[in-house]
Amino acid sequence: MPNEIYDKWQKRYHPLRMEWVVYSAHRNNRPWSFDLKKHASQAPSYDPGCYLCPGNQRAAGHANPDYHDVFVFDNDYPVVGMEAPNIQWDTHDGLYQKASAKGIARVVCYAREHNLTLSDVPPERVARVFEVWREEMIGFAKNPDIHSVLIFENKGEIVGVSNPHPHCQIYAVDFPLQLIEREQLAAEQHQSITGRNLFADIIAAEQKDGLRIVAENDEAVAFVPFFARYAYEVLVFPKRRHATLITLTDKELQGLAAAYQEVVRRFDGVFDLSFPYVMNIHQAPVDGKTYPDYHLYVHFQPPLRQPGLPKYLAGPEIGAGNFMADTMPEEKAAELRAVKL
Ligand SMILES: [Zn+2]
Repeated sequence: MPNEIYDKWQKRYHPLRMEWVVYSAHRNNRPWSFDLKKHASQAPSYDPGCYLCPGNQRAAGHANPDYHDVFVFDNDYPVVGMEAPNIQWDTHDGLYQKASAKGIARVVCYAREHNLTLSDVPPERVARVFEVWREEMIGFAKNPDIHSVLIFENKGEIVGVSNPHPHCQIYAVDFPLQLIEREQLAAEQHQSITGRNLFADIIAAEQKDGLRIVAENDEAVAFVPFFARYAYEVLVFPKRRHATLITLTDKELQGLAAAYQEVVRRFDGVFDLSFPYVMNIHQAPVDGKTYPDYHLYVHFQPPLRQPGLPKYLAGPEIGAGNFMADTMPEEKAAELRAVKL
């Protein structure tokens, strides 16, 4: 395989999204134009102006408790609400529809320290964040109004986050999430054609190739997938199949957290800066049905190709829905593996 990695003008099939990704790494010879410097350590451990720091005032008069490790609260300006007025309306023979957007929006602070990230804290504190995510999922699964849950983190100014306080968000909503639905459909088709599980096949292929793996332990494996759309895109899977975080054992949860932390530490090391990304956890719906074929994973989609050089979505991505990548997954995985931890 290695020799054909850099074949010019190649496309690779993305089996989870059921679409092509085009690679043109041979065009990527622009030099870096960025002043490398550490960003994270410049912030203080407590910022009196931060609405996430312990003891500080938030919007609408709420004050944060003097919390120690992880702190969860309902978003003061939620994008969805359980008290949404009941709307069920359509026109033009059902072509145009609207309905109430019911759900719960929460914020999860990872740490009391304003200037830490999950890269910096001891592993047990990362595992604690995963435990809280699992507790939240258990609660949402009991709520008959919740269909699906999105746990996500936007990290870094480049993805629009100006507050460095380490945190993520949870949207628990009353409708199916589009990408999860597409992955379920892809898994269904793969199962009916091959008789095998799509996620298990992807993990096995990555382990067999080996050259895109960036972290692995007994319980979890992380890799830049063969079909990556972003330069440093990484998927982190628990090795045993679970549809959601709810059924992970403590040992599996700790293993997944350890792989997660190894990935973010490698990210930070690759350009020696606090690495920006969009992170989300892909999980099956919690609508009361079972999803034995779905395999949860953590998805990192970092915008940077080089320091100071983000991937801009333009004609092909916005106009057609197909990504054009100018880096190769194998090369980026090797860079992440080479980071000294
Ligand atoms: Zn803060």
